[in-house]
Amino acid sequence: VPVLPIYTCDQPVLRKKAKPIRQGSDALAAFAGDMLKTMHNANGIGLAANQVGVLQRVIVVDLSGTEYAPADARPLALINPAIIATDGEWSLEEGCLSIPEIRDDVVRPEWIRVKYHDVDFKEQELEAKGMLGRVLQHEIDHLDGVLFIDHLNIVKRKLLRGRLNKIRRGEVEVTYPIVNGGAGAVSDHPLVR
Ligand SMILES: [Zn+2]
Repeated sequence: VPVLPIYTCDQPVLRKKAKPIRQGSDALAAFAGDMLKTMHNANGIGLAANQVGVLQRVIVVDLSGTEYAPADARPLALINPAIIATDGEWSLEEGCLSIPEIRDDVVRPEWIRVKYHDVDFKEQELEAKGMLGRVLQHEIDHLDGVLFIDHLNIVKRKLLRGRLNKIRRGEVEVTYPIVNGGAGAVSDHPLVR
């Protein structure tokens, strides 16, 4: 299973809406596995398909081994995830593998209910609060072309411009392969149709 390169903030694929998946397949299960491996390789706790250049509605999340993890934490792959209920709100600092070295506070609902398909394409629902709820919301945003910096106010976004340009130029220290600069590219991963 390969580690996929992670597309960074200037890449058009991060600004597009990913398409719903209509059925399960071996290719889909393999892709979810590729995404988990890619996320773990980058020491991430969440990853959306857009971030590896694939416009399909797949996210992976894994809090196991982090301070936020409940005892039963395990890697999750969610197909076509959709938030169907929310409650409360709280502010928490977020970061993103596609926007290396930038972190800021974002306000989002505290509790969510999500429906999704698992990799066997069975319909599932889960409720999440705390860090899991936060990561799921961040990743589902990615599937709609939304980045966490979009939730910041205009003053903060202006202040980030110089640092975003550095990422465009590849002037970031990351330990994982990235795609940056140029006119943008879309992955040739077999799941792309
Ligand atoms: Zn992200």
